[in-house]
Amino acid sequence: MTERSQSFNSSEKHVQVIARPRPLSDNEKSQNLTSCLNVNETRREIIVNCKTSTTRFFNYDHVFGCQTRQQDVYKTVVAPIVDEVLKGYSSTIFAYGQTGSGKTHTMLGKFSIDKLSKDTVTAYMSILESEAGIMPRAIHHIFQGLQRQYIDYTVKITYLELYNEELTDLLADTTNEQPEKIKIYEDKDKTNTIIGAIEATCETPFDAIKVLIKGSQRRQTAETLMNASSSRSHSIFTMNVTMKDAQGDMRLGKIHLVDLAGSENISRSGATDKRAREAGTINQSLLTLGRVITALISNEKHICYRDSKLTRILQDSLCGKTITSIIITLSPANEAETLSTLEYGHRARSLKIRPEINQLSSKDLVREYVDEIHRLRQELDIK
Ligand code: ADP
Ligand code: MG
Repeated sequence: MTERSQSFNSSEKHVQVIARPRPLSDNEKSQNLTSCLNVNETRREIIVNCKTSTTRFFNYDHVFGCQTRQQDVYKTVVAPIVDEVLKGYSSTIFAYGQTGSGKTHTMLGKFSIDKLSKDTVTAYMSILESEAGIMPRAIHHIFQGLQRQYIDYTVKITYLELYNEELTDLLADTTNEQPEKIKIYEDKDKTNTIIGAIEATCETPFDAIKVLIKGSQRRQTAETLMNASSSRSHSIFTMNVTMKDAQGDMRLGKIHLVDLAGSENISRSGATDKRAREAGTINQSLLTLGRVITALISNEKHICYRDSKLTRILQDSLCGKTITSIIITLSPANEAETLSTLEYGHRARSLKIRPEINQLSSKDLVREYVDEIHRLRQELDIK
């Protein structure tokens, strides 16, 4: 089989940017804080009633009201992207915004685990009725599509955390004292591959939900132990899907769901905030992400992907080969941070993309077979 690629659409598209403000929290209300935002969903416009300057207007690909339900965010923004993943495209969805603005709520959301152990089908459907975010809904959607459209498929999940430029495998066995170091390896053709991360093979959506829960709990526990906060870490949840249709043709779909670190330390111009520099909390990856976006928009020759692990891992998404969306989340009582996030999102919207279908090459197939032989050998050794 030879490597082929097909163009997603002859016309060039741009990165989709979606704005999602959250409602005022009880705490904010008790301090008599008010929202600086108005939303016009039909005109896809956010209006900022600035205290110190004139009213500002921003347009995006979608704009949600603060009461929009999780299932509606999924249906409008993510479902069409997952449909493309099921055809063999790669995609990346980022959540970008200041700490407390709703990134984790949007990406992961809230759903209960206990119910899973009882009647799995009812429990599973109850997840979709709940405050579950994009990740569990995407899992459900992908398996549903695979079962309907393909005669054979495999789903593999990796779940990484990036904190202070150190990658942690959220799926690693915590009892293992010396977990394998995760490395990013650059191939001859300049594509980056992650080595050493656990790829959890999931046969059912329940397996995948359990993997998601395991990794997300690990992220929370690690933060509590380290007395750190998710405000400085990024998480990257990736589903790799291999699909075989009735004609025997194989395709690879991929989706990265990225919950970024809080944007508050990066100023509107993309420079690092002075306070953050003094406190030693520079977020190299977030800073580089901003620089890469700026360099791509201004067509610079050198794009500094190599300056951070996040941009190395997501190089393909940023250079336009994948369907990329950014959901900017907004805290309505914080005018300065909200403006900064809105401006970042506005800039990112100029990024062009030209996604390509990934048909499986012989190189990928050989790698799949080598993995399978390795797995079978291990099974034999255990027996
Ligand atoms: P972040 O990950 O950006 O730091 P979180 O997702 O943890 O922020 O959100 C902070 C708080 O606000 C949480 O208690 C969350 O449940 C709540 N929240 C965030 N977005 C929404 C929303 N759209 N609707 C209702 N509550 C929300
Ligand atoms: Mg968070």
